[in-house]
Amino acid sequence: MKIYKFTVGSFAVNNYLVHPEDSSAAMLIDAGEDPESILRKIARLKLQLKYLVNTHGHGDHIAGNERILQETGAQLLIHEKEVPFLTDPQLNLSALFGFRLQSPPPDRTLRENDIIRLGELQFRVLHTPGHSPGHITLVCGKNAFVGDVIFKGSIGRTDLLQASHIQLIETIRQKIYTLPEDTVLYPGHGPDTTVKKEKYSNPFVSM
Ligand SMILES: [Zn+2]
Ligand SMILES: [Zn+2]
Repeated sequence: MKIYKFTVGSFAVNNYLVHPEDSSAAMLIDAGEDPESILRKIARLKLQLKYLVNTHGHGDHIAGNERILQETGAQLLIHEKEVPFLTDPQLNLSALFGFRLQSPPPDRTLRENDIIRLGELQFRVLHTPGHSPGHITLVCGKNAFVGDVIFKGSIGRTDLLQASHIQLIETIRQKIYTLPEDTVLYPGHGPDTTVKKEKYSNPFVSM
């Protein structure tokens, strides 16, 4: 699998463009404030964007949805519990910053254990709530795209609407720390890490 990381916008959100080695079918995981740089990369690599998946519906992760979908015709996928965030500026936090961000509706909603196929790759959907109620993690082999669930040495905020600290800790213990220890975690902000590193050193959630 090829993974391209883009860190964009004032919240320095990581967007990941992924595709199988032998196929031009691609998937974008989250779309932040700078969709143009991602569109240029897609064009340069001659990829066909099939899916845009939002790990969750906060503004920094969905700001580029409309533009990317319009330009590529990709399908938008998000967890069913996160759908209201796409169009509610209070929930998606854009109202906090004085604007009203709205994304187009999803083409398909996701649930725990759904599979997203991309050429020979299969991404399993884990429902990983806490930071937001319909947050998902996508797992493909020893790679996990964890959005704002866990970061290198940190965890997602839970001082937000519909967030739950207790639920987030449970998610990390039950869904993230149970993945193989050499699984690479690709977070929505900051550098990559691994399950093993966080299990033994994350100050917020020990084993
Ligand atoms: Zn978030
Ligand atoms: Zn974020």
